[in-house]
Amino acid sequence: MGLPKCDQCRTTFSWGQVSKSLSLFYRPIICPVCKTENRITFRSRLIGSVIIMPIILIGSISTIISLSLPVTITLIVVTGLIAMLIQPYFMKYSSNETETNIAI
Ligand SMILES: [Zn+2]
Repeated sequence: MGLPKCDQCRTTFSWGQVSKSLSLFYRPIICPVCKTENRITFRSRLIGSVIIMPIILIGSISTIISLSLPVTITLIVVTGLIAMLIQPYFMKYSSNETETNIAI
């Protein structure tokens, strides 16, 4: 686990760069050193969806276990923040076309 690196020159991307790429619907990261376009791998997209799963889960079970609205909102915000903070550390980027397409 660690922040993703450039596929070509192994420069580590910053948390901010990765976070920005994720929030812009997985926009590719252009390496600031060698200008290689690094795209998120398909596997990372899957991991990304797993990381946000608890947020959806809290939303759906809140009515079943009768959580009050403020508690539900707090839980969703806290879980969302944690997911946002840790997500970049689980992502992998690649300049290789086959790794960034559907092939896992
Ligand atoms: Zn590079």
